[in-house]
Amino acid sequence: MSLFERHRAVIPDWVALYYRSPIEITHGEGRRVWDADGNSYLDFFGGILTTMTAHALPEVTRAVTEQAGRILHSSTLYLNRPMVELAERIAALSGIPDARVFFTTSGTEANDTALLLATARRRSPQVLAMRNSYHGRSFSAVAVTGNRAWSPTGLSPLQTLYVHGGVRTRGPFARLSDAEFIAACAADLEDLLGHTREVAALIAEPIQGVGGFTSPPDGLYAAFREVLDRHGVLWISDEVQTGWGRTGDHFWGWQAHAGNGPPDILTFAKGIGNGMSVGGVVARAEIMNGLDANSISTFGGSPVTMAAGLANLSHLLENDLQGNARRVGGLLIERLRAIGATVPAVREIRGRGLMIGVELVRPGTDEAHPEAAAAVLEAAREGGLLIGKGGGHDTSVLRIAPPLSLTVAEAEEGAAILARALRQA
Ligand code: PLP
Repeated sequence: MSLFERHRAVIPDWVALYYRSPIEITHGEGRRVWDADGNSYLDFFGGILTTMTAHALPEVTRAVTEQAGRILHSSTLYLNRPMVELAERIAALSGIPDARVFFTTSGTEANDTALLLATARRRSPQVLAMRNSYHGRSFSAVAVTGNRAWSPTGLSPLQTLYVHGGVRTRGPFARLSDAEFIAACAADLEDLLGHTREVAALIAEPIQGVGGFTSPPDGLYAAFREVLDRHGVLWISDEVQTGWGRTGDHFWGWQAHAGNGPPDILTFAKGIGNGMSVGGVVARAEIMNGLDANSISTFGGSPVTMAAGLANLSHLLENDLQGNARRVGGLLIERLRAIGATVPAVREIRGRGLMIGVELVRPGTDEAHPEAAAAVLEAAREGGLLIGKGGGHDTSVLRIAPPLSLTVAEAEEGAAILARALRQA
């Protein structure tokens, strides 16, 4: 029996797998991974935006091995040095004053915690989220996920209202200028809050990830912030995909909207552990310490994962991988735009740094083309390139998010494979 058949016999059907015959990854190095048949692939999805710096980064391997040799886990009931040191560094980087950091093991759990803090504070289950958003797979994270492809239940512990603004690729809003778009969305938010009682928070991704790497114009969340402040509503910035310099211009996605200061609560996960399960929440002490009960995450802040996070973050900062994401990402976007101009099914190449979306449509129309996206993924894989896809039910956006250490030569190599795959598919 193949590994795929064995997988289907024990793993739920709803676990999404790319590719008709799924790949068994055995190992990786740098920006490449290998499968069980010995094929190598350039990894343009960085795991799933999880391998932030590089596969098998020696500093991370060493930190994990050394820490594992001392103690694997001591629980959050006790102190461990890597956890406190990583919290200090993240608090300083967050931009949030008097910040406190709480570690979790995933982005879902981080968003759950943020929603718990906000709803407990306001004593209200009413929250706002963006249309086409994705925030995780727990009951409450699904309840603020506006992207129905990833939100299997309409039942919810929260009362969620969906706000305009996170996605702007189609509809009447798409025809507005940046300033008009921001003004229209802020007025809509004002109107909504004027008619709604006791809203606890707005949760939003600065650039929608699973939703197809769509972003609002810079400054949208600064305009929202001003409205939210007047109504006493907290702003939760979900930086699970946009954090750690991936967008090149900024360390956090919220910084493209910094006009009115940092978010009240920031959530993170994915890349910080370079594949180890590290997530977390940052908030001002007054918000974070407001929970009127004990709450721990059994595995959050575990010494081995914290050691990985510290080594990974140090490598990222010491080697200016944010700057690399800006430079190499800029080149890659340019190359892809040149290629896209020759392929009728490419509607738009968008992105920032090393977070790049290629949206596909049926040629001559504005209609999503999920079959083409699936075919390009297969053809790219044949050519030795792994990419992601997203964009809601239609899933017609190719998502490119390699490790931030991507070289210019690798960017060229990946762009050439993708060009062939686009033409072939
Ligand atoms: N938030 C965003 C923006 C995400 O993209 C994801 C995962 O893709 C999550 C939250 C959930 O994170 P996790 O899968 O670690 O629970």
